[in-house]
Amino acid sequence: MKKAPIIWSTTILFSLTFLVAAVAVPWYAIAVGFGWFEIIATILALGYCGMSITAGYHRLWAHKTYDAHPILQWVFAIGGAFALQNSALHWASDHRDHHRHVDNNDKDPYSAGRGFWYSHIGWMLRDYQGEVYNDYANVRDLQKNHILAWQHKHYLLLAIATNFGIPLFLGWLSGNMLGMILSVGVLRLVLSHHFTFFINSLAHIWGKQPYTDSNSARDNGLLAFLTYGEGYHNYHHIFEYDYRNGIRWWQFDPTKWLIKSASFIGLTRNLRTVPEERIAIAKIKMQLQRAKEKAQLLPNAEQLLQMLEREYELLLARIQDYYQLKKQFMVQKKQALIEQCQTAAFKQRYREFKFHLQQQQQHWQRLTAAFH
Ligand SMILES: [Zn+2]
Ligand SMILES: [Zn+2]
Repeated sequence: MKKAPIIWSTTILFSLTFLVAAVAVPWYAIAVGFGWFEIIATILALGYCGMSITAGYHRLWAHKTYDAHPILQWVFAIGGAFALQNSALHWASDHRDHHRHVDNNDKDPYSAGRGFWYSHIGWMLRDYQGEVYNDYANVRDLQKNHILAWQHKHYLLLAIATNFGIPLFLGWLSGNMLGMILSVGVLRLVLSHHFTFFINSLAHIWGKQPYTDSNSARDNGLLAFLTYGEGYHNYHHIFEYDYRNGIRWWQFDPTKWLIKSASFIGLTRNLRTVPEERIAIAKIKMQLQRAKEKAQLLPNAEQLLQMLEREYELLLARIQDYYQLKKQFMVQKKQALIEQCQTAAFKQRYREFKFHLQQQQQHWQRLTAAFH
């Protein structure tokens, strides 16, 4: 079969920036050395690019796991162009296809089934999708968003303005133009690219599958450090409408922390989460399946399988009972709170009425006293 034609602009861009980051940046670090200003600016710019992709492109637009204030959407739209990962519309369209057809080598744009290189970067270097790229049928909802429509229309200009403008401005500010171009300009871009590309490649190859093995996505705490929390990819593929990827408090998910913190100041709302019960059931289902596979190989398989099935049903019933009761408890707690508020309001009114009565009584006393 003939290979798809190479997209030269992307290939040259990726190769050149990588080469500069791998050769010129270390050379400069040794020969001249980077100052604190460059180091801190690079880390902040890296975080801005990464989170614009994970919190903006991915969890906000591709999956609609929460709503964001227009201010935050502008911030993400500009950060996404700075990250140089195409327009949010295009990105979300690819990503929705990825979830819908995950691991399907023909329909998943970065199918892990085609290997590490392909899912990491190879899929962008050749024109594999052709005319599919102009069909945004799966992101009609996003096309109605005027911030995204604007970003899509002016993407190239925005990408050039941010990728040249920000490092040049910072270089002018610090007085070290070359150092800033190499660090915030090139190193930041290359790291930002590959860290987020790991979500498509490594997060589908390396790690555990606690929730489902019906697709290749994996949970990997180590990878979460490089991918702003997206390393919990097994969870994400089964519950893609959850704004969290690392659901436990100790799991490293700065994207989740950002979305949650922003909700305290009204920048995000309607954060969607999957009910705890569904997560618990998915997990024990997976454990049952694994245990059954092992038990099948043992001499008393029949007996073991029956026992496992029985225990599973028992645990399932317990889980359902527990969450049912928990739900009732929450309802009661809410009612109690309402009643408490009502009592407080009643007390307030009682005090007001009492005060009014006392005043009227005093007034009456004064009035009638005048007639004595
Ligand atoms: Zn996703
Ligand atoms: Zn994936």
